[in-house]
Amino acid sequence: MTKPVLLTVDDDPEVLNAIERDLRHHFRADYRVVKAPSGAQALETVQQLKTRGSQIALFLVDERMPGMSGTQFLLEAIKIYPDARRVLLTAYADTETAIAAINKVGLDHYLLKPWEPPSTRLYPVLEDLLSEWFARARPAFDGIRVAGTVHSPSSFAVKDFLASNQVPYEWLDMDNDATVRDLLSGVAGFAARLPLVFFPDGTTLVQPTSRELADKVGLQTRAKKPFYDLVVIGGGPAGLAASVYGASEGLRTILIERTAPGGQAGTSSRIENYLGFPGGVTGADLALRAVTQARRFGAEILTAQEVVSIKREDPYRKVMLSDGTELSAYALLISPGMEVRRLEAEGVDALLGAGVYYGAALTEAATYRGKDVIVVGGANSAGQGAMFFSRHARKVTMLIRGPDIASGMSRYLVDRIADTPNVEVLLNTRIVSARGQERLEGVTLANSVTGEQRDLAAAAMFIFIGAAPRTSMVADLVMRDPQGFVLTGRDVMVEGKRPAGWTAPRDPFPFETSVPGIFCAGDARFGSGKRVAAAVGEGSATVSMIHQYLQTV
Ligand SMILES: Cc1cc2nc3c(=O)[nH]c(=O)nc-3n(C[C@H](O)[C@H](O)[C@H](O)COP(=O)(O)OP(=O)(O)OC[C@H]3O[C@@H](n4cnc5c(N)ncnc54)[C@H](O)[C@@H]3O)c2cc1C
Repeated sequence: MTKPVLLTVDDDPEVLNAIERDLRHHFRADYRVVKAPSGAQALETVQQLKTRGSQIALFLVDERMPGMSGTQFLLEAIKIYPDARRVLLTAYADTETAIAAINKVGLDHYLLKPWEPPSTRLYPVLEDLLSEWFARARPAFDGIRVAGTVHSPSSFAVKDFLASNQVPYEWLDMDNDATVRDLLSGVAGFAARLPLVFFPDGTTLVQPTSRELADKVGLQTRAKKPFYDLVVIGGGPAGLAASVYGASEGLRTILIERTAPGGQAGTSSRIENYLGFPGGVTGADLALRAVTQARRFGAEILTAQEVVSIKREDPYRKVMLSDGTELSAYALLISPGMEVRRLEAEGVDALLGAGVYYGAALTEAATYRGKDVIVVGGANSAGQGAMFFSRHARKVTMLIRGPDIASGMSRYLVDRIADTPNVEVLLNTRIVSARGQERLEGVTLANSVTGEQRDLAAAAMFIFIGAAPRTSMVADLVMRDPQGFVLTGRDVMVEGKRPAGWTAPRDPFPFETSVPGIFCAGDARFGSGKRVAAAVGEGSATVSMIHQYLQTV
């Protein structure tokens, strides 16, 4: 295997040699360092490396170069190597340019010259970026191929499961590729059994379930022990944060996730308001980092396993999984987040996965390149979705029920949408029906002020119309509000009295439910912040309360 390349570009020979020397000194065991004295020559090198099939992990480029600036070079280079990490070398005076480059080229970092001593000012930053690149670039399970048809709910489900668990795969489109039809012709009755998933070991799964896929690609689906200190239900930001803190502070911790770690945040194309990521972070990246971190501390993470019920058998708390497994623990954290609300309009359900999707369905972006798509909803998630699809679709029409866009969306997104020419916003608008034979062809809209109806052709519709807490599994166990949000802390006290069945000689801790030892954090909790940072904060904070609780059992 040839080593991935670190490409550095600078027109000043002295600086170029110095950075090359420092990079070689630290990274030569794992990477090949290549240098170029100008943007133009570097682009030629990039083309040659691409032709040879080499990987580029990092561009480290001087901003101020004659002919082609560092930002201009990156704009071209990332078309060829979109996954490479991007760092600009700048003088103090160019800081503004570097900050502008964060949006323009998705800059990961800018380094001020000189970078002395490299052990503190250069290597830690680059190591962090390279480990992130490596985690994504390295195929976790080389060579999976999914063959199916684009407008098929079962094909979408398989792609979505693999993508949200960050398992690389190659998509084989049966409708548009004759070689794929040839490949499939060896499988009896294939047309009725799509998708087929081919594995590098020569085996094939036909219309697999998430659990079958998870087992096959090596995701953990079974607990290693029958008993834990802490069982975390739900792998969104709250559950992941609790797992990191729980495991790092010595608790035997297991997290159970029904689909893929990351939760709602994992479906976000770009989270821009999470502390410490000035250039934004994709939900997938954040999830990958959190999972790596939790595992490093020894937490187990089960995927494709759903908690279906919870029992209290003092001093134990027991969870039943969808496959019949029972796990026991001293403490539980419920962090199941929210599930999307369904759009009640004629024809929508029949076209699910065939042009109609809940959430961003990032895997489908390429399918709708150059087509007209609809985004339904007026909150931040819809705004992010519209921005994401505007990069692929010919036109994005946002349908918002209310009279203005700013009431449900952060200012930065409202501004960005206004600056994006291929996004049109229709206010006071609701969907009456969706139509299409085998796939979505269009929708009928109604204006709620004038009552006027009209048709709008669209190849895809992405629905973001809010969510409800996913807490039915604890409906008979803990106190919830009428919407299903779990009450915690002072909210479970009734007229100053502890709730019925409360056995501990103390009031509930802030994130503790009406059952001692069962905690709740994140979006499913009554009064929570409904943000990534809020969920992370709550999940982390719960662990110290769990420690206090454990001292009493
Ligand atoms: C598209 C989108 C974009 C967003 N963008 C931003 C943003 O830019 N900034 C921001 O701050 N916030 C954003 N949010 C909101 C943010 O993602 C949520 O507030 C946050 O994810 C809540 O975290 P959580 O851990 O409480 O729940 P969730 O993220 O909802 O995770 C809960 C997890 O629990 C799992 N689960 C549920 N029930 C069970 C069960 N019975 N057994 C096992 N597992 C179960 C679910 O599958 C899910 O993975 C966005 C939300 C969406 C949908």
